[in-house]
Amino acid sequence: MLSEQLFEKAKTLIPGGVNSPVRAFRAVGGNPLFIKSAKGAYITDEDDRQYIELINSWGPMILGHAFEPVEKAVRDAIQHSFSFGAPTRKEVEMAELIVSMVPSVEKVRMVNSGTEATMAAIRVARGFTGRDKLIKFEGCYHGHGDSFLISAGSGALTMGTPDSPGVTKATAHDTLTIPYNNLAAVEALIDANHNQIACLILEPVVGNMGCVIPEPGYLQGIRDLCTKHGIVLIFDEVMTGFRLAKGGAQERFGIMPDLTTMGKIIGGGMPVGAYGGRTDIMNMVSPAGPVYQAGTLSGNPIAMSAGLAMLHYLNDHPEVYTRLEEIGRRLGDGFRNSAAKLGLNYTVNQIGSMFTLFMTDKPVTDLDSAKTSDIPRFGRYFHAMLDRGVYLAPAQYESLFVSTALTDDLIEQVIVANEESLKVVM
Ligand code: PLP
Repeated sequence: MLSEQLFEKAKTLIPGGVNSPVRAFRAVGGNPLFIKSAKGAYITDEDDRQYIELINSWGPMILGHAFEPVEKAVRDAIQHSFSFGAPTRKEVEMAELIVSMVPSVEKVRMVNSGTEATMAAIRVARGFTGRDKLIKFEGCYHGHGDSFLISAGSGALTMGTPDSPGVTKATAHDTLTIPYNNLAAVEALIDANHNQIACLILEPVVGNMGCVIPEPGYLQGIRDLCTKHGIVLIFDEVMTGFRLAKGGAQERFGIMPDLTTMGKIIGGGMPVGAYGGRTDIMNMVSPAGPVYQAGTLSGNPIAMSAGLAMLHYLNDHPEVYTRLEEIGRRLGDGFRNSAAKLGLNYTVNQIGSMFTLFMTDKPVTDLDSAKTSDIPRFGRYFHAMLDRGVYLAPAQYESLFVSTALTDDLIEQVIVANEESLKVVM
């Protein structure tokens, strides 16, 4: 088994054998698959086993793996060298495209990951307001910047380290956390910290405690409170951007943040992030303003080429979003129906092409309810799905990400695999 051998060797060379924690399969047990290639809806491991993809690199591969226009753009770009550390035409084109697609973004800065985007966005918000504190929500994940590793979701939650050692008390002191989907808690927190809060950051649909959907009126309520108290509202659309609609969750719900952080799809699979928003706030960023933020590889020409090919395709093909809605709905309904047929009262949260089957009979609206899930059972279910050729996120506290490469036949296969796997773990 090559994956097993590789993992044994990797553990001697890389902490935990992986370069990002959830990949290690800690939460579900067993040996992580080492992947050697992927095409369309399939991923292939080092042992030549093929799986139907429901993670898609944690979101970026929304049109399936090795999507031809993106592949071609990268092939063309590498003929002109890989990095210049100087402005390029492609960065201008990228900025123009993002501004045209994401409704609230007037100016944008490219970075290299979602983490960089969120770290920079809160610095800008602090520079703009002259305030220090920020509000984040329990179970939301905004990358691994110090300020966010407090009640963090995703891998930090799965590993049991939502409050990471190494974050100073002073940093933690400035991050205020409250439960998601509770507007009264936001109001009370703002009142208790009058004129001290620079920004409020949230995932407008959460993917990082599993998929959790904002209750009606919640985002509007948050928008109103931020406006009233001069707090910069940041939508972290690293997962939802270009996925829940062409213009992300803000377009889908019609609520405009002041700043937006982006990543994943924006790079077409290359390491890219971006943050953008209101001109008056973005003009704080150096060299337009005093808030420093920079990057040797920011706006990298290969990454820009991949991202441009991806975003142009999404911009020019609205039918992609119709199809993603249909695939998401069919899988969500299929999973729900199978559970009901087996007498399992599980919760399936689904919106567009994001969804999670929670192994709990409670509605999941926040971290506490997500935590009522049966984690050991999820682990067994995960492996039952893997045995049936379906590759899920190896943790309960993650959303699945669908791509347009899923054909009707594959959707049916996934639904059948789900039903059989649920039977196995009942
Ligand atoms: N924000 C959200 C909502 C995310 O889901 C993630 C990563 O999954 C990040 C930020 C961090 O992005 P990256 O892993 O590219 O640093």
